[in-house]
Amino acid sequence: MSTATENQSSAELNGKHHPICDELGFPTDPDNLYLQTVEVMLGACDLLGLQHRVQIILAQPKNEIMVHFPVRMDDGHHKLFKGYRIQHNNALGPYKGGFRFHPDVHLDDVKSLALLMTMKCALVRIPFGGGKGGVKVNTRELSEGELQRVTRRYCSAIANEIGPDYDIPAPDVGTNAQIMAWFADTYMMSNEGKDANDGIRVVTGKPVEFGGSLGREKATGQGVADVLAEMLPGIGIPVQGMTASLLGFGNVNSWAGRILQDMGAKTTAVADHTGFIRNENGIDCNALAKHAEATGGVKGFAGADDCTEEDFYRTKVDVFIPGALEQMITPQRAEWLDCKVMAEAANAPSTPGGDRILVAKGVEIIPAILANAGGVTVSYFEWLQNKSSVVWSAEQVDRELNRHMVLAARRTLKFRNEYKCDLRTAAFAAALDHIGDVYKVRGIFP
Ligand code: GLU
Repeated sequence: MSTATENQSSAELNGKHHPICDELGFPTDPDNLYLQTVEVMLGACDLLGLQHRVQIILAQPKNEIMVHFPVRMDDGHHKLFKGYRIQHNNALGPYKGGFRFHPDVHLDDVKSLALLMTMKCALVRIPFGGGKGGVKVNTRELSEGELQRVTRRYCSAIANEIGPDYDIPAPDVGTNAQIMAWFADTYMMSNEGKDANDGIRVVTGKPVEFGGSLGREKATGQGVADVLAEMLPGIGIPVQGMTASLLGFGNVNSWAGRILQDMGAKTTAVADHTGFIRNENGIDCNALAKHAEATGGVKGFAGADDCTEEDFYRTKVDVFIPGALEQMITPQRAEWLDCKVMAEAANAPSTPGGDRILVAKGVEIIPAILANAGGVTVSYFEWLQNKSSVVWSAEQVDRELNRHMVLAARRTLKFRNEYKCDLRTAAFAAALDHIGDVYKVRGIFP
């Protein structure tokens, strides 16, 4: 395992204010998520010696689209919603990335997530750029009809800015396959004509019966498991028998937990918005997934004991897997954590202060752009299947996903060995090296 003193760390790079952030007039608040994300990227650009012009292009998104749209609520009144679509970069291919429905959606956060998508797609070498969207909405307060109308109005508000070969949304926090189906239907109905059916490629993560790919639902969790299986033995942790704690038990972590369990791992603590549970003999993730689906969360699961938040974080495990929202690992929680590895199933799960503490404690961090790239990778397979009107078997999807994840993990390790940096910086460098090569041959017009 690497230690903070041996290697240059992304937290160190974070500590300094990169001159390009001043040149572009970025916010100076050290806890700003966009600043945090850009500084890691610029640190990796410096390691590679990427030209200034490529750095300034990547430090800001190409397009920031903000929309406001009214939706008729069930009681007859109209409510105005705010939506975003950030298109970060399309040097490698169409903008790609999910859209989320959440009350805390803010511009800087969506910008960070769009930048991370550019890095993720480049790292796994799929021919997409990066984008991200969102609507500021609390879906728990909506009826199904209201949710459908918000989705359709969001789609129509951004329909002129997206397209099957231009910008391709997908699910993210608070959105799912049903929402993608309403989104695709709205886009296709708004573009009626001979090519309407090709519009199905405008969004991925659709239900299997409507152009979705087998294996897409579990893809992000499967990717987390594939990366861990590839990297943990090198860190001295066999997957068979390893212990894990899961922060979040939604789509990503419920699948990661179940798949890791099949590989012989033991989950000993789980937390979500309903509560904290622990069982040192192991929590059956299959039974927990059924319980969470029936009750809306992990609280009250018969196969574990309730515990406090502090107990959850202090549970000694080999691997801690944050798979909930961004910025949840505050300095206090980082102090509590007792793990050898943190595998970032969620994007940017720790605050800059939390990250610094984990690095100082010698926790090996497998960064999100590697650990959670499985979702967008299978989105790419879905898009390819829609484009060529073929259907891949579940085995083919799993095989190809595994190949992409294993190669991305090896690429990251290669850059770490070459640049003697931490895994986060190495993953960014492996992504940026590819983007830099493309800018070199394409040049910049005019
Ligand atoms: N929202 C997922 C992510 O952050 C998936 C994006 C996609 O499939 O395009 O990677």
